[in-house]
Amino acid sequence: MSALVLEDVCAGYGAGDVLGDVGLRVDPGEIVVILGANGAGKTTLMRAISGTIARRGTVRLGDRDLVRAKPDQIVRAGVVQVPQGRGTIADLSVEDNLRLGAYIRRDKEVAKDLAHWYDVYPRLAERRKQKAGFLSGGEQQMLAIARTLMTRPRVLLCDEPSLGLSPRLTSELFASLASLNKELDLSILVVEQNAMVALAIASRAYLLEAGRLAPSRDAAELMSDDAIKTAYLGG
Ligand code: ATP
Repeated sequence: MSALVLEDVCAGYGAGDVLGDVGLRVDPGEIVVILGANGAGKTTLMRAISGTIARRGTVRLGDRDLVRAKPDQIVRAGVVQVPQGRGTIADLSVEDNLRLGAYIRRDKEVAKDLAHWYDVYPRLAERRKQKAGFLSGGEQQMLAIARTLMTRPRVLLCDEPSLGLSPRLTSELFASLASLNKELDLSILVVEQNAMVALAIASRAYLLEAGRLAPSRDAAELMSDDAIKTAYLGG
């Protein structure tokens, strides 16, 4: 069974729909990329999944229909978006930001998870008492991801995770997403301008054009498609 399924989803901001009849699926443990030009509706699609804008159609996680669920219920169900860019709380310490990620949890394993993510991201462990606002851009992005992982998501949504990062940090970030995917069998849906880096860790990709999603294609095949290279991969 797919982890996340969208069928005939329409969504927008009041004055007409930006997304029309969008359908997609992300299978358990799969990395899927959304490619599209500026203004195609990629962020709108992420918002339609996380329930932060009005949407119609079917948004299903496993056998549960989430289309009428509120954003916090969607997070509790396991579909969680990484806060964009500097989405961490600048005045709180690294550790408090991480604990905040676990606020919806009722289990007793928060400390164990904290220790685990400090192992995975030693730079966060070194800076655990520092305010998040003093971290570098790359460290803040790491913190944003680790904070999201503290919710123990089933499906991770990443909207332009490399925004503002150098090419080296972008590569590190995608390597880290790939290993999280393997380690946790985590499903990841990612919107990314650096199409090559994203496709390299993905199994499939969808092209979004003017709010319409074409059927998915194999990531490796897209990477060698000349038309795609010209349109999305910088030639
Ligand atoms: P980019 O790559 O430039 O971020 P995108 O593919 O993420 O673009 P969206 O941000 O989803 O595109 O925008 C799609 C359309 O929805 C655009 O026409 C945009 O003007 C419109 N839009 C986005 N946010 C809002 C909003 N809050 N209110 C009204 N219209 C919006």
